[in-house]
Amino acid sequence: MAEVLLLCLMAACSHLPPAQTFHKNPNPQTMKPSTSLHSTGTPDYSLTEEKWKEILDPEAFRVLRQHGTERPYTGKYEQHWEPGQYHCVGCGNPLFESETKFDAGCGWPSFSEKVNPEAVIERTDHSFGMIRTEVLCARCHGHLGHLFPDGPRPTGLRYCINSVCLNFEPKEKDADKNKMTPPIRINRRDSR
Ligand SMILES: [Zn+2]
Repeated sequence: MAEVLLLCLMAACSHLPPAQTFHKNPNPQTMKPSTSLHSTGTPDYSLTEEKWKEILDPEAFRVLRQHGTERPYTGKYEQHWEPGQYHCVGCGNPLFESETKFDAGCGWPSFSEKVNPEAVIERTDHSFGMIRTEVLCARCHGHLGHLFPDGPRPTGLRYCINSVCLNFEPKEKDADKNKMTPPIRINRRDSR
C-alpha cells in the first residue's frame, strides 16, 4: 500500500509545471488584452521603441516605427483580394475594408477609403525632399504609408499602405449566408 502511495506521490510531482520561459510573442494581436491600461481602462499603445522591437518582426518594426517602406511588389497583400478587413499589425486597429482595395499598379496595397474617419491620422511629410501626406495608425501612431490624390472615384484618394503594417481578418463565415445563390442552369432542350 505504501508503495502505491509513493508511486502516486511521484506521479504527482512529475506533473509540476515546467520552469517558466519567456518567448517572443509571434503574434502581437494575442498580447492586446495584457497591454498596460490607463486608469481610464483605455489600452496604452505608447510603448517604448525597445518594447515595439520585442513585439514586431524586424521588417514591421523598420516600416511601422522607423517610417520605412517595403520594397514594391513584395508585400503579401499587394495582390490579395479576399473579402475582409485590414488591421494595424501593431495594435489591431481596424484600418481598411477589402471593398475599397484596388489595384493601383504601384506595388503596394492601395485603398480608396479608410474604414472610418478616426482610423488613421494624415499629416504632412517633408522627407526625401518631397511634400507628401503620411498615413499613421490613429491608435498606436505607427507609420502605415502615404496618401495620394490619384485614386478612383468617388473619393479620388489612394491610401498606399505597406503590407507589413497590416493584418488581414477574413470576413466572418456568417457572411456566407448572404452569398448569391448559384445561377439556375437551364437545360437547353427544355428552354426551346
Ligand atoms: Zn496601430
